Amino acid sequence: MILAGCDGDRTWRLQDYVARGGYAALRRIVAEKIPQDTIIGELKTSVLRGRGGAGFPTGLKWSFMPRSFPGDKYLACNSDEGEPGTFKDRDILRYNPHSVIEGMAIAAYAMGAARGYNYIHGEIFEVYQRFEEALAEARTAGLIGQNILGSDFSFELFAHHGYGAYICGEETALLESIEGKKGQPRFKPPFPASYGLYGKPTTINNTETFASVPFIMNMGGEAFLNLGKPNNGGMKLFSVSGHVNRPGNYEIPLGTPFSELLEMAGGMRGGRKLKAVIPGGSSAPVVPGSVMMDCTMDYDSISKAGSMLGSGAVIVMDETTCMVKALERLSYFYFEESCGQCTPCREGTGWLYRVVHRIENGLGRPDDLDLLNSVTANIMGRTICALGDAASMPVQSFVKHFGAEFEYHIENKKCLVPPEVQRAGS
Ligand code: SF4
Repeated sequence: MILAGCDGDRTWRLQDYVARGGYAALRRIVAEKIPQDTIIGELKTSVLRGRGGAGFPTGLKWSFMPRSFPGDKYLACNSDEGEPGTFKDRDILRYNPHSVIEGMAIAAYAMGAARGYNYIHGEIFEVYQRFEEALAEARTAGLIGQNILGSDFSFELFAHHGYGAYICGEETALLESIEGKKGQPRFKPPFPASYGLYGKPTTINNTETFASVPFIMNMGGEAFLNLGKPNNGGMKLFSVSGHVNRPGNYEIPLGTPFSELLEMAGGMRGGRKLKAVIPGGSSAPVVPGSVMMDCTMDYDSISKAGSMLGSGAVIVMDETTCMVKALERLSYFYFEESCGQCTPCREGTGWLYRVVHRIENGLGRPDDLDLLNSVTANIMGRTICALGDAASMPVQSFVKHFGAEFEYHIENKKCLVPPEVQRAGS
């Protein structure tokens, strides 16, 4: 759907997007003056769930925007994409940026927003430049700006690049960053729908979410829903990385068996055995390979397996993986990226990293696993934003499912997976 036909050099160009049916939905909405409620109703029917990680129903989120607000309302697209394992949004912006522009224009029409910003991860600058070029094309063609397509609907859209801080992908930190302040999350409530960018009502959606909107408006909410399964409408992009033969982005219907996705990604590298999968980006709990093989790729099935679909970043690990070392790297990431505003996260993420680091380096203590569980329990639910939980959930799940490997490290001062086996898989 979003990346279909996007395998040439010029697929990002306006001309190519229009040839693929692009901007037909926006043209129809503007020409027929389709009521805002009809558009939001179509989104609700589609059960498009937010593709950034939280999985919140998009139509419902749009309905939270106040209708009769005396002043500007804003839209923000979250293209910050800093979650380890996730690399789908940058490909949407690289190969099909106009789907995001059209999706944002339709969203602006449906919610009465006057201005929008696409916040793009700062470490992929060429993607930001490409989006700017696509914006210029859309502006010249009268698809954004004043009096879009000769109508009385106006919407200004701007690109904004971040500087690589993971926390700026948190929606309120993203707003702070657009405002030119330090990117730190705000207390909620108030929620952005009532007090967002510059204190005005704001709706924030992920890149893939906005990019899905034109397709829903063209095919209808019901048809989109039926592509997936009940409560899990449509297609979804999955970024598959790790020990597979063909890592990359795969756009598949929600509800597709994990085993099929693994096959699309070329199967396990070297024919090795699947050990574990992180199915939804590094914040999602790890799932043992045997459990994962019975899952389908949708929000409900992954949740039943004790994890989250998240952003759809599927990290595949084979039997050569040392789970202690894997967790050490993840824990360092969260320690490094904590914004430091709240004590449980600022101190706790460092504490988690140091304990896992010492276990990995043969200095673990007998009560370290209890300590890890205790520290995570004291972080979760006690922080301003979800980073504290995101740092804790991997630790809890690694210890729960692979505790024997951690205990072996502590008792024997070395890894259960011999170094030569680890090297073979690296
Ligand atoms: Fe910052 Fe962590 Fe608190 Fe989030 S949980 S506001 S990242 S210190």
